[in-house]
Amino acid sequence: MTTAPRPKTETIHRQVDPYNGNSRGAWLSSPVSRGEETGVGIEVRGLSKRYGSFQAVKDVSFEVAAGQLVALLGPSGSGKSTILRTIAGLETADSGSVLLTGEDATALPVQRRGVGFVFQHYALFRHMTVRDNVGFGLKIRKEPRREIRRRVDELLDLIQLSGHADRYPTQLSGGQRQRVALARALAPRPKVLLLDEPFGALDAKVRDELRMWLRKLHDEVHVTSLFVTHDQREAFEVSDQIVVLADGQVQQIGAPQALYERPVNPFVARFLGNINVLPLSSLRTGSTGRGPASWFKTPPTAEAQAYVRPHDLDVFAERNGKPYWPARVERITPLGGLIRLDLRIGVEHALQIEVPHDQAIGVGFAPGDEVYVTPRHLNVYDRDHANFQPVDVNRAITQSWQAGAGI
Ligand code: ADP
Ligand code: MG
Repeated sequence: MTTAPRPKTETIHRQVDPYNGNSRGAWLSSPVSRGEETGVGIEVRGLSKRYGSFQAVKDVSFEVAAGQLVALLGPSGSGKSTILRTIAGLETADSGSVLLTGEDATALPVQRRGVGFVFQHYALFRHMTVRDNVGFGLKIRKEPRREIRRRVDELLDLIQLSGHADRYPTQLSGGQRQRVALARALAPRPKVLLLDEPFGALDAKVRDELRMWLRKLHDEVHVTSLFVTHDQREAFEVSDQIVVLADGQVQQIGAPQALYERPVNPFVARFLGNINVLPLSSLRTGSTGRGPASWFKTPPTAEAQAYVRPHDLDVFAERNGKPYWPARVERITPLGGLIRLDLRIGVEHALQIEVPHDQAIGVGFAPGDEVYVTPRHLNVYDRDHANFQPVDVNRAITQSWQAGAGI
């Protein structure tokens, strides 16, 4: 080191440091990483952390299967970085444990955990070339020069920057710098890779490209990875599984589409995409069933709310026997492949619907039209019973019909 590192760089320095004894699982040379031998790459058990009187992380538990890419998704301040830093050993939890590839790492110092870390801010060593940045962790581990060269070439090829080996960080774009940061983290063959909003500082288009690129790269190297983001779309695009976090607590864990379709509470439903929230009592019963009261064993309370995604609604000019919201069209917005309808129910409730552009439905409507809106799928949230129940409306209608509700 010839230049005193900036504070951020120092963190990287400690983190890149030795990775002692973790050079097994050389995923580029052999496709089976060490984690895959044990099945679980990262396991967090009952992690809690306070800052003074503020509890930032509350009894958090989850697993990342070996070789998977999992997103830790939550709003700003929900405790994501604290959890990631605790896994890395940069932060100490008040209670709970961290297991890496099956071994208890809770008490291990950062340099013995075998983690690679990529932060939002580049933190490359400014006075070093791309090649030296990528090889840094191997050099301080005193690997043979020829081996370092081979490994760095392999990684530069992987991040598609072979032609830029002799450039300095200032001669690279933001996206290229993050790719170098990733290569540097991967060089010592970490057991796990931790990424904290790595694309957060980049503009939208570059971020999009890098997401796709990261996903592709992960498909090639299969290093167990935990990816922190507050961006729902980013989590959907890159990850196998998502851990949704709010106020320091795990809300739900699952595959992206499963979370989207079957959120377990109002927070997850709202956080994972646009959703309409309406009083269930405003849904009028159609002629072919008894409506919401007959959908559940315990009838919903008067305050129950319906949560409906914009694409789970159909809009009709006439009533057709199904439950409906009477609404007025306020605005029609073509969005390329979709058309969005902004509607209003009475004066207080807005409702948004999305229909595929090529679907005749919706095309015939104009602002001011009175329409009937029928949900195909919704979730009913009953605060009193603290439950959030999905309803397949067509099935519910059939069942209530069969139960003799009749017309
Ligand atoms: P996220 O990464 O999800 O935005 P963080 O883990 O950074 O959340 O922070 C969670 C909460 O803990 C926030 O309210 C934050 O202000 C607080 N916090 C984080 N680090 C510290 C610290 N060193 N001292 C005091 N409070 C902190
Ligand atoms: Mg953070």
